[in-house]
Amino acid sequence: MLTCREVERLMLLHVVGELDLSAERAVVSHLQKCAECRDRAEALRRDTARIEVALRTDLQAPSGLLDGVRSAIEAQPKQPTLWRWAPAFAVAAIALAWAMSHPQPVSAQAPMPLAEVAQRSELLTPMPESTPERLARTVGIPIAMPNLSGAGAEMAGCGQCPLAGTPVAVVRYRWKGQLVALCQMPTSKLAFEPGNKVSMAGMDFFCCSRKGVSVVAWSKGPAAYVLMARTDQMSLMTLARVALSAI
Ligand SMILES: [Zn+2]
Repeated sequence: MLTCREVERLMLLHVVGELDLSAERAVVSHLQKCAECRDRAEALRRDTARIEVALRTDLQAPSGLLDGVRSAIEAQPKQPTLWRWAPAFAVAAIALAWAMSHPQPVSAQAPMPLAEVAQRSELLTPMPESTPERLARTVGIPIAMPNLSGAGAEMAGCGQCPLAGTPVAVVRYRWKGQLVALCQMPTSKLAFEPGNKVSMAGMDFFCCSRKGVSVVAWSKGPAAYVLMARTDQMSLMTLARVALSAI
């Protein structure tokens, strides 16, 4: 019998019908016995359906998109094979849905590698509360306070952290018993490693995992957003999907 964690990693592949027969049987047999995973599968099925509906437009996926996503995922530290594919699908779907609703071009250039941001786990620790207006003045970009309750995350306040000399606004959420950070900084202050980067429809989209911290990052005009949590990437993707549609 698979554990809930193993099932979670296979869930997206199960929902989109990409599991091989023996893995599919194992997942189905787990779902029959585990209500929690069954609920999760249902929620994911609804999300996936929504994304598919959103994708039913005239916009074509850029050629090479999936290859780009796949190599970005494969450039990450070693993970089991199937596990790489699940986030690849989610990244592609989310990125496409997002790109369609936010078509403006963005650029990512500069000093702070995303991986370095990911390693600053102090970003997840409490910080003095502040207001979005004050943060905007310090950080130099408008600060978004997206409501992520659709993904079960409750806002826990916002504040500011210095990161390699750059002030970064951090909105914190409580989610699944832990703190999640949504960091916001000028796009020009964040460097995304080429290996983890997927560019499409004028947008750059990034993900990485460092020391147990999963990261999804994107930029929109002058603002770059880095969502991070101590969780696996697939769980973080569900949160990122809500954040992307809210910002
Ligand atoms: Zn389970």
